[in-house]
Amino acid sequence: FLKGKTALVTGSTSGIGFAYASAFASAGASVMINGFGDPDAIARQCAALGEASGARALHDNADMTDPGAIAAMVARCHAELGGPDIVVNNAGIQHVAPLVEFPADKWDAIIAINLTSAFHVMRAAVPHMRSAGWGRIISTASAHSLVASPNKSAYVAAKHGLVGLTKTVALEVAADGITANCISPGYVWTPLVENQIPDTMKARGLTRDEVINDVLLSAQPTKKFVTPEQVAAFALFLCRDEAASITGANLSVDGGWTAA
Ligand code: NAD
Repeated sequence: FLKGKTALVTGSTSGIGFAYASAFASAGASVMINGFGDPDAIARQCAALGEASGARALHDNADMTDPGAIAAMVARCHAELGGPDIVVNNAGIQHVAPLVEFPADKWDAIIAINLTSAFHVMRAAVPHMRSAGWGRIISTASAHSLVASPNKSAYVAAKHGLVGLTKTVALEVAADGITANCISPGYVWTPLVENQIPDTMKARGLTRDEVINDVLLSAQPTKKFVTPEQVAAFALFLCRDEAASITGANLSVDGGWTAA
């Protein structure tokens, strides 16, 4: 049902972002992926996406801390693939440390990648969606857009901000056939979660198993990690005509975390 449409997903060489790209491709969309990684592996990812969609799949290596590179990525997407009709603000990083020890450069990087990049992407993409009279904007927020956890000041601030930003855009584009929503996952097993285990072990004096069971999954009543495919399937639904009235929402996929 996305044949002829183009999706641009930031931070999609890994984890949840690649699952979004795969879901859109499987529905027939052309896809532009973005993010870092081994060039051969990324070329294989593009080939797999193209095979799934029967349409084109390109990679753009724009650094989400660089506004000029973001604008160029959106312009390139429009010129080479069309659209973008669907944009997912997904790039994100994490750093775990108590506030007084939190490195200022990590704060700046997290705000830039997890929040400010979405401003630059949407600013460049909305005019294309308006001229098409149709668009879908999805921001990957987090359960941490609704509740806090200790030692994640920058991430929690950025995700709360991303929800406010996405809601504001939803109001501005509501009459233009464009929806803008956040999906807020609980813990999803990806490199982003894997990489924070050592710092959480250190910050809280716990073993690896204690971090997984007593810190991560303790928040999630299902006691299961959310899967990237579950998040992506929900995003795909938001692209359907049946989802045209869902806008300005922050939609949880968190195994019950924020119900508690
Ligand atoms: P991941 O580490 O697997 O993927 C992150 C992606 O972002 C990678 O493709 C990476 O190359 C890219 N990236 C990082 N810095 C970048 C930069 N400066 N410019 C361009 N790309 C950059 O992480 P993930 O778990 O798939 O996370 C994806 C999104 O989901 C993030 O916004 C994250 O905050 C959010 N999220 C994750 C979880 C979870 O438990 N994994 C939960 C809630 C929300």
